[in-house]
Amino acid sequence: MAKKGGREIVALVCSVCKSQNYMTERNKLNMEGKLTLKKYCKRCKQQRLHKETTKLK
Ligand SMILES: [Zn+2]
Repeated sequence: MAKKGGREIVALVCSVCKSQNYMTERNKLNMEGKLTLKKYCKRCKQQRLHKETTKLK
């Protein structure tokens, strides 16, 4: 569950291979909807769109 203050740690997973490559903090107060970032994926060996997930492994 999210703590007070609206900050939440989320994982970023590659939208293609589903590899969990990055961890980031998001601020629920400022952002709505899903976070998507274009980042390098080690498994794909190229830039892929990464989507946030709260399911941390
Ligand atoms: Zn990938």
